[in-house]
Amino acid sequence: MANQFDKVIKGMLVLENEVVYGEIGIKDGKIKEIHKGEAGLTGETYLDFSNQYVFPGMIDVHVHCFSNTQEGFTTTSRAAAVGGITTFMDMPYDVPNPISNVEIFKEKAKKIENKAVVDIGLWATVSKYNGTDQIIPLAEAGAMAFKMSTFETDEHRFPRIPDPEIIKTMEILKETGLRAAFHSENDEIIYQMIEEYQKEGKVYPAAHMETRPPVTETSAVLKLLEFSYWTGGKLHIVHVSHPRTVELIQLFKKFGVDVSLETCYPYLLLDVSALDEFGPKAKNNPPLRKPEEVNGLWEQLHAGNIDLISSDHAPWPKEVKETGNDNIFKASSGMPGVEIMVPLMFNSTVAKGILTPVQFAKLMAIHPSEVFQIPSKGKIEMDYDADFTIIDPNETFIIDETKLQSNAKLSPFHGQKGKGKVVQTIVRGKTVYDGNEITVEPGFGKFVAGSAMREEALVVHK
Ligand SMILES: [Zn+2]
Repeated sequence: MANQFDKVIKGMLVLENEVVYGEIGIKDGKIKEIHKGEAGLTGETYLDFSNQYVFPGMIDVHVHCFSNTQEGFTTTSRAAAVGGITTFMDMPYDVPNPISNVEIFKEKAKKIENKAVVDIGLWATVSKYNGTDQIIPLAEAGAMAFKMSTFETDEHRFPRIPDPEIIKTMEILKETGLRAAFHSENDEIIYQMIEEYQKEGKVYPAAHMETRPPVTETSAVLKLLEFSYWTGGKLHIVHVSHPRTVELIQLFKKFGVDVSLETCYPYLLLDVSALDEFGPKAKNNPPLRKPEEVNGLWEQLHAGNIDLISSDHAPWPKEVKETGNDNIFKASSGMPGVEIMVPLMFNSTVAKGILTPVQFAKLMAIHPSEVFQIPSKGKIEMDYDADFTIIDPNETFIIDETKLQSNAKLSPFHGQKGKGKVVQTIVRGKTVYDGNEITVEPGFGKFVAGSAMREEALVVHK
């Protein structure tokens, strides 16, 4: 008898509302049957993950491949595969030019097709001035969403977008159904505080946190929430570091604003003491917060008020980070994460009984796909892409910064042990990481286009 499927996977399947022991039949890279119990599906290949979780392929919506380090798609997508990430969204702040016009966007999308080992979607952005005419062409070319900043990191590459341009962008984006996302920090307060601190010689690691007090995040977010309220544009706040920000967002949801938010794994797993301990290695923007604020963020996570968790993977190499050893303000911000976020978060939640596997899947796969309307990804459902992250809850992992795929061989999590190893990463039915090594060549990964102008994208969630 001929096999029914190309491949059959057996294990503890993490579906949208329950975990069931069962089988999945895959054909042409798609999920074609989901069966509870031992169904006896037949396939050319049969993968038995009996004591392991078969999660929907996890999605990291916040990755920087090309910010200065020129790390690129091959290295980053290999890191993603090892980390159980089947799709990631790459940020638009590339060196030398940000992804703010359609030619550059198309060039970048083409690069994915021969460089990547997992699937990748792309963020676009707008120029500081006079760039909004590119929004519709970028959306049509397949941008997943638009990222902007209220904080100026780099005048050309990563600028602070003036308020009138933000409003205009939100208005235009409504036609596409795509979301405007923001790095939300108050530029003026922070730059003035840094100047004062430096004058006084206060350049110790925790000064990074002290010069970016919570009000610099919350006040920037509050402004954006009002913009979203008055324009009706969809809003997303990236890397939320403080529970007060979550409260403000919840309030505006009650006003009917379509707003989502993410936090990043370091804000949950570290506090400001890591800055004292590791210096520049633990520097990110917004900064790590006080322990009681971290607890508040966990409370918001438990309450279901945080939509998703991302890595904000920013792989600065050691040499760049070390320039801040004597003065924290000189170091670049960010840390690698796409390779270590899933096991670290699994260990701190599911392995400790703090979240159910279904809740974990929502944060890492289901909500990312819903918030950014990523077609065919993020769920174990009929006709979806056969993307899976297989986690063995009983196997131990150890974070070793020297073995990271990334050229950034550094992490404040170095040496940490935990339960929940990624034992296999499967993209469109194909194993891209088998628990030991990458099993596909660059070129397997595909560009994932966004859902601009699609009917489902034009729905506003109130
Ligand atoms: Zn970022």
